[in-house]
Amino acid sequence: MFIKITVFGGFVSDFAMKIENTPYYSKCTGRLADGCKYCVKGEKLVLFVTGICPRKCYYCPISDKKYGKDVIYANERPVEEGKNAVKQIIKEAEICDAKGAGFTGGDPLCKMNRTIKFIKALKKRFGKKFHIHLYTSFDLVNKKNLTKLFKAGLDEIRFHADIDNDKLWNRILIACKFNWDIGIEIPVVPDKVKQTKRLVDYFSDKIDFLNLNELEVADNKISRLAELGYMTKDRISYAVKGSEKAAIEMMKYVLAKKYKLNVHFCTAKLKDAVQLAKRLLRRAKNAAKEYDIVDDEGLLIRGALYYNGNLNLLRKKLMKEFDIPSEFIETDKERKRLLTTAAFADENKDILKKKGLKVAIVQEYPTWDRLQVVVDFL
Ligand code: SF4
Repeated sequence: MFIKITVFGGFVSDFAMKIENTPYYSKCTGRLADGCKYCVKGEKLVLFVTGICPRKCYYCPISDKKYGKDVIYANERPVEEGKNAVKQIIKEAEICDAKGAGFTGGDPLCKMNRTIKFIKALKKRFGKKFHIHLYTSFDLVNKKNLTKLFKAGLDEIRFHADIDNDKLWNRILIACKFNWDIGIEIPVVPDKVKQTKRLVDYFSDKIDFLNLNELEVADNKISRLAELGYMTKDRISYAVKGSEKAAIEMMKYVLAKKYKLNVHFCTAKLKDAVQLAKRLLRRAKNAAKEYDIVDDEGLLIRGALYYNGNLNLLRKKLMKEFDIPSEFIETDKERKRLLTTAAFADENKDILKKKGLKVAIVQEYPTWDRLQVVVDFL
């Protein structure tokens, strides 16, 4: 018998009958987990609770700046621990117009008090419907920790099970006692299909969904994928060759076994071209200043006037000389420049250069760190 399930707005699938392509460069059988539905629309705040983790996975994607360090990030924004942490996180959620948050790390369970505090604060500020999912391995799972998470309002929990070692797998039974969505989320290691099938056999009747992530190489010290001989599928991608093929084999296995399990194969392309891109667009809407142009990808296009002298004085002079309203020219002390419209910079470049300014049109991410993509000196 087929169970008809409507997935992401009218997209109908025969549950557990075939592998569907999603509109997000991924594949699924059945439905997407609720956390993923928000994620593919760029509606999730990525809350990195701590870089501390009890495990040392050979494929760990966490950067050296974060892995093993007790640091907090709300999207790209570093958050200082202490009284203001909650305020900073809420500010970032507001500026992105987030509808939920994904708690990640490291392992958020390494910092239980902090994790609980953040869940409660987000639910209090944005309401019960603000969807929160959390990633953890089984290492720190016990009844006490899961009870705290559930009572704080966690909606969905995703376990990163060890593919090679089943010692802690039965801790899933503790999670099954609570009324929340449970998933297993693992990277697909191309030569570990046999082990992954074993894992699926064990978990299939205990979880709501299985998320298979395309394995990616990372430019960090902890990942050993390159030295173990794993190669990327092409020059421009971080995705590992063979991971997609193995994921499809896993999905076929789930179908053949008739497991009533929602499976989502999440590709490297989904993370970049969908999740991140849509989150950037949402943030750009609120982060853009009067003088910015927001392009189709959410990049901010702005005029930049670099100057080593007194920027505030220069700003006042230019406002007077060119009759510029105050909201169209701003001081950026950190990068020693004034920001204004690209049109103003372009039209007046010769006069401005005679005043000793370096004039450029820049393209920057609308993120906290304002990553510069293009600096075009005129
Ligand atoms: S992949 Fe996750 S569980 Fe494994 S070491 Fe990295 S942060 Fe820890």
